[in-house]
Amino acid sequence: MWQSDFQYYLAVESVDGESIGDVRLDVDWIPALRWAEFEQNVRNQRALNGCGTSPVIEPVWNPEREPPYVGGVTIRDYEPGAEATPFTLTYFSDAVTKASAELVASGALATGQPFEYKIYALAQAKPRDPVSWEIDIVALDELPPIQSVELAPLMADAEINTNIAVRRSSDRTPTMPIFIPQSVLDEATDLARNVGDIETGGILVGSLCRDPDGTLYSKVTAQIPAEHTTATRESLRFHHATWVSVDAAIRLRNLGEIPLGWWHAHPFFCEHCPSERRSLCPFSIPKFSVADRGVHREVFQKSWSVALLLSFLGAEQPSYDLFGWNQGQIEAMPFITLPDRAAIKENH
Ligand SMILES: [Zn+2]
Repeated sequence: MWQSDFQYYLAVESVDGESIGDVRLDVDWIPALRWAEFEQNVRNQRALNGCGTSPVIEPVWNPEREPPYVGGVTIRDYEPGAEATPFTLTYFSDAVTKASAELVASGALATGQPFEYKIYALAQAKPRDPVSWEIDIVALDELPPIQSVELAPLMADAEINTNIAVRRSSDRTPTMPIFIPQSVLDEATDLARNVGDIETGGILVGSLCRDPDGTLYSKVTAQIPAEHTTATRESLRFHHATWVSVDAAIRLRNLGEIPLGWWHAHPFFCEHCPSERRSLCPFSIPKFSVADRGVHREVFQKSWSVALLLSFLGAEQPSYDLFGWNQGQIEAMPFITLPDRAAIKENH
């Protein structure tokens, strides 16, 4: 349950400052609510007040303009004085894209026309009806088990023969360290090669861990090939039966693992294109597609859920890229490869 007393709007202007139109923003708050829950419960080790809390979404007024123009929002617990999790205006970017598409559809904005915008918030006109504003979607989850394991030995292993792919797309909250064994990358690569020209994937399982110094990190321990999926050249869908078999596999392994996310592979889309066209083609670089974002938003909503993308781009090895939630938005993020245990032994 959550509440917001404000409705957010987009005011669109031409680059010369002429008003083009105002559109009501349809903001998907669920990832932000989940992020706030993650920050307040899991990352910061602060207990929420148990069941029945009702997070409140409130505008932060833009310091450079008068209200009702907003510079971001905060989400806090219903309790007065509770600490708030801030979100910048970039949180609105998906809603802004949708709203500007509406303006294009209505003819107010030409396709490709550059525009400027401001976001403002108005108090909902109707007094709150105590039943209808409580939307029972984001019931707080039970916290996942968090193992207490020292981080230093893992980092020492990782430094031996790993590369840390730092592909931060923003400088917001630093993401937590995520370890992925080389064997998981290798297994996924083999599975994807054997499947050929359609997307293939699986579930990443492992654990959330906390170093005695408080640092939260996650450690993938295995991948479970996804069964009962619908795969095409451009998409992969998970079905209920996929989860039944993943749950069964986790239970059988009996290692206390939880699902940490998913991996999937994109076949080499540019195989039949001439090489001079490949350099211009958007499919010649790793791309977490709109469909991929949709799957992550619908199926992997936990704030620690990650998506490993393997992109076959013509080289012998695919490109490995990780995506996950940061402040309620899906972003590319770094991960740390753990060498196989056998390889570590050989080195010592
Ligand atoms: Zn994909």
